[in-house]
Amino acid sequence: MGILKPRRKTIKIHIGDVAVGGDAPIVVQSMTNTDTKDWKATVEQIKRLEDRGCEIVRVAVLDMEAVQQIPRIKSSVKIPIVADIHFDYRLAIESIKAGVDGLRLNPGNIGGLDKVKKVVELAKEREVPIRIGVNSGSVEKDLIEKYGSPSPHAMVESALRHIKFLEDLDFGLIKVSLKSSNVLDTIMAYKLLAEKVPYPFHLGVTEAGTPVQGAIKSSLGIGILLYEGIGDTIRVSITGQPEEEIPIAYGILRALGLRERGAEIISCPTCGRTEIDLISIVKEVEEKLSVLKTPIKVAIMGCVVNGPGEAKEADIGIAGGRKKGTLFKKGRVVKSVKEEEMVRELLKEIEIITGERLFWAGK
Ligand code: SF4
Repeated sequence: MGILKPRRKTIKIHIGDVAVGGDAPIVVQSMTNTDTKDWKATVEQIKRLEDRGCEIVRVAVLDMEAVQQIPRIKSSVKIPIVADIHFDYRLAIESIKAGVDGLRLNPGNIGGLDKVKKVVELAKEREVPIRIGVNSGSVEKDLIEKYGSPSPHAMVESALRHIKFLEDLDFGLIKVSLKSSNVLDTIMAYKLLAEKVPYPFHLGVTEAGTPVQGAIKSSLGIGILLYEGIGDTIRVSITGQPEEEIPIAYGILRALGLRERGAEIISCPTCGRTEIDLISIVKEVEEKLSVLKTPIKVAIMGCVVNGPGEAKEADIGIAGGRKKGTLFKKGRVVKSVKEEEMVRELLKEIEIITGERLFWAGK
């Protein structure tokens, strides 16, 4: 994979029909922020996530009422569902019975060994993997005392404890995450654990912040680890709607040459030569192309001086002029378009190239 370090060798597990680890592609996932009890709202959000390319989704399961909605949610969506459980082992057992494809829980936090055993026996029987998710905020008190803070070493020791619970019960369908809101701590924790266990890693930086901050922190944390060959599935975390996370996740994978999906938009920063409302045009095109699956490079440049030349790698593009623009394909000029028709023309051409249907006003 070019200058990337070789991928860490991990065991392959399956969340529903999605492979994670081993030689499987890096999987993109997210988590709903709806009340899982509101199955309709949850399904609608999962469908929006699916449209953008989310491949696994996690839902918070806080009580039995939420568990009861799982079969309905599962039968209404295509991607595998992971139940996020804290403290109550009965929710884990009932979620497995309700058909979830994976669990996220920390075995040390659901009450004694006998309770963990009940969950693990059923998970083993139904081949439901468990993600151990250690966050810097949830590291055990004794480890904070030992290390002085929820440091990467403390997080790793915490993860090893939870892993041991499962290994002692001869359970190997394990995935691990070690998230801190500090990018460098996150990177160090994953790197330390990578030397100790063969399980696939779910990468993420927790509580990463607003969409801009979250994109920066996630891109750095996840990106650096993937560059190091570490990571099997990723979740970008932002304070916003989960569907906004997916294009960022694919952007990270695309930038590293790991996966291709949808449109890569190449646009100029604008300058005194720009004579069209380039910023609005780029925003509108980006939004309309967010559901595109076929990889395509789309350039939207402010002027013809540098536009087509700088964007000659693009499959299709527009270079602005005075209230009009030039449509070009692979660096070759095709035709002139009025400013108000640019978005429509571009989308029409992209539909022809990709064979996918896009939707826009006035169509
Ligand atoms: Fe300026 Fe043209 Fe470059 Fe855009 S492409 S930044 S308008 S020179």
